[in-house]
Formats: sequence, C-alpha cells, structure tokens
Amino acid sequence: MFIAHRPPFTFMCALLLAATVSTGAAESALSAPDASATGVSASASSDIIELLEQTGALLEWDEFTRTGVLWSGLDSISFAAGESIAVANFDELLRVEPIIYDRGRLRVPRETFSVLADRLGRRADPVRLRPVKAIVIDPGHGGRDPGTFRSLTVDGETITYYEKDIVLEMGRYLKAELSKLLDGPEIHLTRESDVYLPLKERTEFAHALRDDPLDNVLFVSLHVNASPLPWTDARGVEIYYLPATQRRQVLEEEIAATLEPEVSSILNDLKEEEYTVESVLMGKAVLDAIARDLPDTPIERGVRVANFFVVREARMPSILIETGFINNRQDLELLATSEYRRELAAAIASGIAAYVRDFEQLQ
Ligand SMILES: [Zn+2]
Repeated sequence: MFIAHRPPFTFMCALLLAATVSTGAAESALSAPDASATGVSASASSDIIELLEQTGALLEWDEFTRTGVLWSGLDSISFAAGESIAVANFDELLRVEPIIYDRGRLRVPRETFSVLADRLGRRADPVRLRPVKAIVIDPGHGGRDPGTFRSLTVDGETITYYEKDIVLEMGRYLKAELSKLLDGPEIHLTRESDVYLPLKERTEFAHALRDDPLDNVLFVSLHVNASPLPWTDARGVEIYYLPATQRRQVLEEEIAATLEPEVSSILNDLKEEEYTVESVLMGKAVLDAIARDLPDTPIERGVRVANFFVVREARMPSILIETGFINNRQDLELLATSEYRRELAAAIASGIAAYVRDFEQLQ
C-alpha cells in the first residue's frame, strides 16, 4: 500500500504552470511534441519504467492531461510530457530534456534520466510510516541449559543434537537473511554463542533497544519441540503467541507514571490488543512463507496460544517458533543439517520481512 500526503492533482498542475510562466521559458510553454516531432531516438532515451525500477519511485500519471508526478517517499518531481521544466517538491524548478509521450509509453532522455535518478534515488526507500526500530532474534537455551536433545545413529556413528545448537545456528542464518531483506530495522541476536542467558535478560535486552518507549521492536524466539515420548509421529513447525488476557502490563512504566490510572489502564488494554494482533499477523506471515518455500515441511496451521515466559515478558509483538520435533526422526534428520537450518531460516526471514513491510506502511 502506498500512502502519501499529496496535494490534489489540479493544485499540482497549477504549480507546474506557474513555474513555467514565471521563468518565461517560451519553449516549454508551447505544445507538447511527440517523439516523431522532436526526433528523440529510442536509443538515447529509456522507458520511465526503468527509472521506477532503478529508484523505487512511484509514478502517478494522468493520461488525460499527460502530466505525472514521480514519488520517492514524500519527495516528488512533477512533469508534463514534452515540457522542458519539471518541479521538485512543488517548488523547485528543474530544467530537463523533455520526457516524451510516445504511443502509450513515457520515454526519458538519457540526461534527464540521470538527473531524475539522482534526485529520486537519494531517498528511494519506501515510506516507513511506522518504522520498526529493531528485530530481536532469540535462540532459546544455551550454555549449561542445552534444551531438548536426541541422538541419531548414521553409518554406525552416533551424534547427539542439542536444541541450543540447532537454534543458535538457525538464529545466525535468520539474522543474515533479515539483514539482506530489510534495510530499516536493526537485527539483533540475544546470544551470539553457546552461553547461558536467563529468560529475563532476553526480554530486557529487547526493551533496552528502544530509545523511545514507543519504538517498535519485534521479538522472535526460536526453539525445538519435544513431546513427552522418546519418539513421536508429530512433526513440523508450530508458532505461538500470548493472548492479550494473559499479558502482563505492557505499557512502559516511564509512560504509565505520567498518566492518570484510568487512562493508563485503557492505553494498556489497547497496547495489549495491538501487540496480540501484531503477534498473530507476524506468526501468520511466517507460516505462509514456510508453506510457500518449504512445502514438504508440515506446519500447524494457525498461530497458537501459549504462556511462555519470553512471549509473556516481551512488551512488543512477539512470537515463539517451534522449528520442528527433536523426537521425530524425520524432523531431526532435517534439523541436524546446516542446509535445512538455513532453508528454514530463509523462509522465516521472508515471512517476517513481508510482515514488517506491511507493518511499516500502515498508520
Ligand atoms: Zn526450547
């Protein structure tokens, strides 16, 4: 979804006209010539679509008036086909080789292309109306707490696989993948090595990343499932979140202290509701991505409710991903390999990235 606070189109046109007149540029006030009239050859110009692809800008085009606005974030460049003047941000004149309208296509002369690409490229990031400041990846357990474990014997060799190692490597891959997919948020791991980290420190680490108490931080905990049996037929990925009713007070104390108790209680309810909704949306996006990218991995459809400490204490949208069952042989054979850890991390990353992009575009 693209949202921008833009003036009505007629207002833009009026500004464009005013700009043209005020410079007294006679050549630009004349009729809009087409490609054949100007002799601009196709090789010296590019389709405007290339400019949009290169800069990430969006084009608002009026076929009737043959005027357009290129949007890059909240920055704009207004132009009319055949005119040698464009207007940046509705007030700055740019002298350009005219953009030519030719049989339904807009062709941008090479020189104009580089001027516009330079301008639009400077702030070509999509509008982040609700930026996510950070994403915290929390590989469960660590150090003296190995989590769940099972052994596999392959070719006479028995190896024991520990949850703490599986989720640490997966967490590292997840961080690398998210860093590739998202420019905006900082990506952090609660632990980078095989160290013991109390649960409280994991969520406190996430809270401490906020400069402002209202900064958006997301929390993703990685674990490996185990059923009470030695081995099980149950397999696949499950995602958990905490329902609003079980959430502790989520409003930051710093803010709550400045409010009347009733106001703080209402805001707290809203915040709980928001975190719950956002957690479920994030969980669904991850499940969708796994279903799409790893169709052989069974997933528990629907995001499930649970009262895990890390999701309870994370006063932010938070999910806990059970990445598979250690006591299912098929799952364990997959989880035992770096290849699968990387594949699953990549799918999780693409789900989180899709969720973050949606989150940031909504007010
Ligand atoms: Zn665990």
